[in-house]
Amino acid sequence: MSKHHTILLLYSIVLAVILGAATGWYMGEKALMFSWMGTIFLNSLKMVVVPLIVAAIISGVASLGDVRKLGRPGTITFIYYISTTILAVTVGMVLAEFILPGNNYNLSLNSSIINDPSSSKGLSDVLLSFISPNIIASAANLEVLPLIVFSIIFGSALTVTGEKGRIVTNFFEGLNSVMMVIVGWIMYLSPFGIFALVATPIAEAGGGAAVLETFTAVGSYLMTVLGGLLIHSIALFTILVILGGRGKKYLCDVMPALITALSTSSSSATVPLSIECATGHGLMKSPVRLMIPLGSTINMNGTAVYQGVAVIFLAQVYGVNLIYSDYVLVAITAAMAAIGSAGIPQGGHIMTLMLFSFVGIPAEGFGLLLGVDWFLDRARTTINVWGDLVGAAVLDRFMKI
Ligand code: ASP
Repeated sequence: MSKHHTILLLYSIVLAVILGAATGWYMGEKALMFSWMGTIFLNSLKMVVVPLIVAAIISGVASLGDVRKLGRPGTITFIYYISTTILAVTVGMVLAEFILPGNNYNLSLNSSIINDPSSSKGLSDVLLSFISPNIIASAANLEVLPLIVFSIIFGSALTVTGEKGRIVTNFFEGLNSVMMVIVGWIMYLSPFGIFALVATPIAEAGGGAAVLETFTAVGSYLMTVLGGLLIHSIALFTILVILGGRGKKYLCDVMPALITALSTSSSSATVPLSIECATGHGLMKSPVRLMIPLGSTINMNGTAVYQGVAVIFLAQVYGVNLIYSDYVLVAITAAMAAIGSAGIPQGGHIMTLMLFSFVGIPAEGFGLLLGVDWFLDRARTTINVWGDLVGAAVLDRFMKI
């Protein structure tokens, strides 16, 4: 998407939020006649889930090179990605449970485009859901977790298959690029979808009076995500930067990359600058080249904080009771989901939508979040990029030891 189109889309989304709220306010229940527009938008996002996740993960893992030879730096990188992402989603969930942004705003679960509420799952069920006996059936039922696990295994196998596997790797790389183009096209539908998705809950909640409540709830959701991002970056990343033997100067030196992330909402677009800044500061080339390009698609701490808050916020709004295993499931799935999310503007949307279905949150609840997402996307992308840069510093230190 060109810069000109991105800006146009941004204005259209802001306009759609205002028009959607006004329509829900003035038309009340009659505004429900627009709900089909929201359904089409959500269905188009769901339509690309399976090919997108499969292609993104397989091509991402395949680009690692022979997984048997990743050695110590590869293991540290992997542990860093997984542990910081799980911590990030936990920070998001805990903060949302503490602030309760969705508690004073209630929407009913009886809507037309609802997902089945999750049946209570024990921890063993969570573990069992990692491996599907029938991957085709899982794809058909949009069960993302076994698909992610399968794609990681498949991608790893490709790295050790040599010449014979090259054609398959190329195919998935090509498929990934095609899916990115389709996602870009779907984004053009977003102003219409967002208009309907903002109008519908306001109409359902009774029109006029609900506008203020909606904005208050969405406002506290926004503040919770920002708070989570801040806590995660101050608490965890500061410790890790110190562990990596770097300080304020590192933050200053990588500032151009962080500002680029903030202004482009894309971790992938920021990669060249991040590499430049990190090596310019004095990090060795090999940790930077391992941690940053891969991290731009795999390591998304900011996205994980946002997903944690979003799930808990909407569970509060819809009165979905989450049990212990749901939290574990969300934490693990969100960490996996970060691997499947693309480092492009709003690349985390599709995986977030999938997370909702795990815990029985209606897909249409996503509409509440979309109105402020153009702003949150920028904030979380900055943290995604900062997470990769901090990781590079930590790996650099380990490699020197
Ligand atoms: N825009 C984010 C990134 O590029 C992904 C997302 O959270 O939507 O890192």
